[in-house]
This record gives sequence, structure tokens and C-alpha cells, in this order.
Amino acid sequence: MRPKRIEVLGVPVDCVDMSTAVQRVDDAIRARQTLSVLAVNPEKVIKAQSDVTVMRLLTNAGLLIPDGIGVVLAARIFGLGKMGRVPGAELMPKLCELAKVRGYKVFLFGASPEVNERAAQKLRETYRGLNIVGRQHGFVRDDEIPELLDRINASGAQIMFVALGSPRQELWIEKYAPILNVKIFQGVGGTFDVIAGSVKRAPWVFRKMHLEWFYRLAVQPRRLLRQTALPRFAYQVLRRRFAG
Ligand code: UDP
Repeated sequence: MRPKRIEVLGVPVDCVDMSTAVQRVDDAIRARQTLSVLAVNPEKVIKAQSDVTVMRLLTNAGLLIPDGIGVVLAARIFGLGKMGRVPGAELMPKLCELAKVRGYKVFLFGASPEVNERAAQKLRETYRGLNIVGRQHGFVRDDEIPELLDRINASGAQIMFVALGSPRQELWIEKYAPILNVKIFQGVGGTFDVIAGSVKRAPWVFRKMHLEWFYRLAVQPRRLLRQTALPRFAYQVLRRRFAG
């Protein structure tokens, strides 16, 4: 069943929590439907408001997960619907677990060659029996794409994790999903780096307090520019709420 789709500050997001998101993916594979899974967070909401391409990519996605607590709180503040936080970096391991249990075939695309290889190794260790049928680092030239597409289709992969960063991964999925036999495409950003251990997730206490964004900012100050979206998002939510 398709989850209810609402709009937060004019940008679509689906009312799901972790278990309904995993269920939606499983249902799509069983029904042989193609489903792209993209993350919605305050940064993307702000971007989509002024960037028609980002808005189109989100609008056309099959499943829009509430990636950050900001989106979940905004939906709650506006009384639009109930959802739980579904960070893309947490959904991917859940989908690996699902793939292991159901025997779904997985393809890993993106990140540097070392990170891609180490992520595959780590996933194989963590989810014994997980069928990773192919992988490719994320720095392919345009002339290498046809061979890559053939290889993906020949692998029989049903789930593909695309880790190229935003909006590169969303654009890639939009362009190539129609010619691939893969059913599930999840855009996972820097998640391979986290799995490979080259970028650490925030310590538990930061995650529990929903301050992962703050931790990432502290350890990767280059994100500062991107994070200016957060106060803008909060301001717009509060203004709209209290201005009626
Ligand atoms: N990346 C890639 N190909 C490119 C550019 C980036 O595979 O042409 C990878 C990069 O190595 C990293 C990921 O994309 O693994 C981007 O991570 P980032 O944390 O910047 O993405 P976000 O989650 O913020 O979208």
C-alpha cells in the first residue's frame, strides 16, 4: 500500500516510519514494481523550494523518507500526519537485512574504489549470506556507463544502493532506472563511507538527542555552508505555524 504523501513547506514527503518503509520496499519487489527511495531533510526542502530540478526529482520518487528529525517535527507541528524518523543511513542496513532474509540480490554503486570495496566487505561480514551480486565505485566516465548498465542488468540485482551524493545520485537514478531491471534504488549519499568506517556516525548520545547534524558539523566544518539550510527551515516552519 502506498503511504500517505504530505507536503512540508511545499515539498513532498511520505508518512512512514522505519518498519513501514521496509515493508513498502518488500512489497514493491514482490509486486515487481520499480521504486526509488529518496531522503527528504531540511537541506533538501530548502533546496527544492528554489530548484525546480530537485523538486521534480523528489516529486517523481516512489518513496520519500523523512531523513531528519526536522521534517518529522515540522509534519507534527503542522498536524499533517504521523511519521517516524527514517534516516537513509539506517534504512540501508535494514534493507540489507531484508535482502539477506529474502535472498534479494544487491548492487553497490558509488564512493571511492577503496570505500566501495570495504563497504561490501563490511556488509558481507555483518549480514552473512547477503548476496552482493555486483559493485562499482562512483567515479565512472560517461563512456563507461553503457558497460556498467549491462553489468547491472546481467547481475540480476533487485536492490541498488546509489552513493554519489546529492543531487548526483537522484539524477542518476531518474535517468537510468527506466532502462535497468533493478526494482529498488536507494540514494544513500555518504553511507558507504560510514559503513566502510572512513566517516564515523555521531556517538550514540548525539543521535539520541537528535544532534547528529551538530556532530557532523563539528567534525566536518565544510558542511557549514550546507547547514545554513537548518535555521532557514526552522524559521519558515515557525513563521508559517504562528502566522496561522
Ligand atoms: N561520490 C561519488 N562520485 C562522485 C562524487 C561523489 O561516488 O562523482 C561519492 C563520495 O565518494 C561519497 C558520496 O558520493 O562517498 C557523497 O557523500 P556526501 O556525504 O557528500 O553525500 P550526502 O550524504 O551529503 O549527499
